[in-house]
Order: sequence, then C-alpha cells, then structure tokens
Amino acid sequence: MRSYNSFEVEQQQVLEAARILKLDTPTTELLLWPQREYKFTMPVKMDDGRSRVFHGYRIQHNTARGPAKGGIRFHPDETADTIRALAGWMTWKTAVVDLPLGGGKGGVVCDPRTFSDRELETIARAYVRAVVDLIGSDRDVPAPDVYTNPQTMAWMMDEYETMVRHHDPGVMTDKPTQIGGTEGRRDATARGGVITVREACKVLGINPHGTYAIQGFGNAGQRAALLHQELLGGGSLIAVCDSRGGVYRSNGLNPVELVSHKLKTGSVSGFPGAEPMDRDAVLELGVDILYPSALENSINEANVDRIKAKIVCELANGPTTPEADLVLHAKGIHVIPDILASAGGVTVSYFEMVQDKYMYFWDEPLVHKRLDTKLTAAYHTVRKAIEEKRVHPRLGAMVVGVARVAEACKLRGWV
Ligand code: GLU
Repeated sequence: MRSYNSFEVEQQQVLEAARILKLDTPTTELLLWPQREYKFTMPVKMDDGRSRVFHGYRIQHNTARGPAKGGIRFHPDETADTIRALAGWMTWKTAVVDLPLGGGKGGVVCDPRTFSDRELETIARAYVRAVVDLIGSDRDVPAPDVYTNPQTMAWMMDEYETMVRHHDPGVMTDKPTQIGGTEGRRDATARGGVITVREACKVLGINPHGTYAIQGFGNAGQRAALLHQELLGGGSLIAVCDSRGGVYRSNGLNPVELVSHKLKTGSVSGFPGAEPMDRDAVLELGVDILYPSALENSINEANVDRIKAKIVCELANGPTTPEADLVLHAKGIHVIPDILASAGGVTVSYFEMVQDKYMYFWDEPLVHKRLDTKLTAAYHTVRKAIEEKRVHPRLGAMVVGVARVAEACKLRGWV
C-alpha cells in the first residue's frame, strides 16, 4: 500500500473546493498554507532520572474567522505534516458549523502509554511553557485530541495561568467541570456524529435501528457505541476494534459492558461472549452504519473495494484518502465527512469558551440542545451544497467551509 501524506491530502481537498468556488490565486494560496508554525524541543526529566528530548508543534492554520482552535495530540507518529493537515481540517471544521473560530493543532511526538502521570504532567507543563506567547483565550485555544484528556488540559491551564498571573480558563477547552469545563463536552464529538447519522437516515430513508460497527475505541468511539442506541432508540453494535485487536458478535455487543471492559483492561480484546476479529475486517462488514474513529487514512485504495456500510460517519480526522472517497461515492455509500461528522467536539468547546468568558455555566440539557441545533443545521447546509454543486459529500462540506473562510479573508482585506 502506498503511504499517504495527510497534509498533501488536505491541500488537495482545498484545491478542489477552490476550483468549484472559482477562488483567485492569492486566496487559494493563503488557504493552502498554515498562517503560522512553531516547532520546538522540550527536555524532560523522566522518572528514572534521565532526560529525554521531545519534539513539539503548534500550528495555526487560519484565524480570519476567530482565534485558532484545535487539539493537542501526544502520538509517536506525529510529524509537521500531520499537524499541518489536522490544523487545516480544524479551520474547515469550525467554518462548516459556523463557529467564530479559526483552526489550529498541536502535538508532541511521544508514546504517552508508556509514561507515568508525573511524566505526563511534566510534558504537558513543558509544552505550555514553550507556546505561552502564542496561545490565549482570544488567540489560540487548545483542547485534547488523541492520547490527551481533561487532566492534560487541567495541567496545561494551570501552567498557563501561573505564567500569565491571572485566571483565563478559556485558554483550554475540555477541562474538568470543576475548573471551568462545560457539561456535555466529553461525549460531544460522538453526540454530534450520531446527530448527523440521524439526519442522514431521515434523508436517505435508512432504518437507524439496524447494525453498526466502530473502528477505534478511544473517547469518540466509546461514546458513539453508547450514544448511537441512546439517541436513535436502537441499533445493534456488531463489531469494534482498537489498536490491539477487534471483537465481533452477530447478535450485538453490549456497549456499556464493552466500554467498562476496555477501561478495565485497556483493550476490547478478550471481551467475554465475543469472537475475536481482525482489526481491518471491522471496517469491511456489511453494516448499516460504520464509525471510523481511529487515525488518518484508514479507508484507502487497498481496502475501499471491500467497504460495504450504507453510511460512513467519520468521527476520526482524515480517515479516508481522496482515491477512496471517489470509490465510496461511486459505490453509493453515503459518507458524512469528518469536518462535519466530528464537529460536535469543537462546537461544545466553543460553548465552553463562551461560558468561561461569562463565568456562568449552562446545564447539560441546554448544551445538548444547542449542539443539536448547530449540527442539524450544518448537516443540511452541507447537503444543499452537495446537491447544488453536484459534488461528493466531502467536497460539499469543504465548499461550505472554504467559502466562509475565503469570505472572512476578503472582508479583512487580506486578499
Ligand atoms: N480534537 C478535537 C477535534 O479534532 C476537538 C478540538 C477542539 O475542541 O478544539 O475536533
């Protein structure tokens, strides 16, 4: 299988949208590249007394519509190009759901699964010391992403506030609720995805109570397992995989028990009553709804011919390559693209920023209601763009996002 550079994939998506929108060359050039990139090293004392040097990034892709917004990943495969791509996708994601925010992303090249809590805290604080001049609640607001979580954000917020010497909880989102986090943020990415599935089922006349499968069982995947049944009133989860293996049960896996097994053992593998399944095979089942919830490029030219789901709801960022996208479209599979399907997380992050500014917090039902309104509207805006421009779903979503960011750049007099 060929290897994919996610940044090239993202730039190709921008170029296609720019062509449909007939954007001029300077505007296209501006949208193709991050506005600002920062790369740094962090020497950290590990528990064994030795120092290790970690490489960190923070990239602000576009801030025409508002402060840069996007997560920080701790992952061994991170590179400048993966962060560039992910930063760009945040620009398009915030624009598709019409938030007054731009896009950014950060990362540390490391495998946090091998670290103690003390080591994780030291890395989190070192990261903030490196980027303190770039971030802030009106400049650039990080959040968790792969292998980071509310505890990471709590340490980061504390380090930031210690350095700037005043409270500014809106500098990070998805914090614990006790220190400025919002209700409803932890399951927001999955909730947003399931809301788009609900709308897609209505439009396509698909029964939402059929079968579903989940590839990747981190925060988004686990919450989708539970919320799919809760929000749609049914459905049978027949297969799930994570980085260590997969499980299958034709009569349906119990999502509550599966999540607690994962939290206890660190993997879905060995879940009682389920058959083991090859990780890749989970993507290829004939289910009604498939949730890719792992990393980039999981659906590619090597396996796309075997994908059989009716709806692919992309909770991961960039799970489908451009060639695979065209094949899915030709096969009549309805893709709900990442920048729409996974936008629930950043939408509730935006609600968190608003509440932190106010110092007044909403209850959970209000967060859910406002999230539903935003994602439902975005789903139908994208659907209209797909119909009007006669393009495949990802291009439809990109056209909506790119048009909004291009307009903001123009109004500011940048191009
Ligand atoms: N990391 C999440 C994403 O990729 C959330 C970003 C945020 O809330 O800023 O959408």
